[in-house]
Amino acid sequence: MIELKPCPFCGGEARLYKGDGISFDMNTRDCFIIHLCNSGGSLFTTIRTDNFRTPEQAADAWNTRKEVEE
Ligand SMILES: [Zn+2]
Repeated sequence: MIELKPCPFCGGEARLYKGDGISFDMNTRDCFIIHLCNSGGSLFTTIRTDNFRTPEQAADAWNTRKEVEE
């Protein structure tokens, strides 16, 4: 089970997107975390991580990002 921290700005949920899993290319990076942030009131901002090979790596990037971002 992959745990994703809530958004540091609005407390909202982040979502994990994975590739279709049918690619055999080991270099394929199609896993990332995406979040639609509404910390700006009526203005929504899409926040996403870079693409990674595995959901675990993407989750790690998201969870780490929380500590780094202002
Ligand atoms: Zn947010």
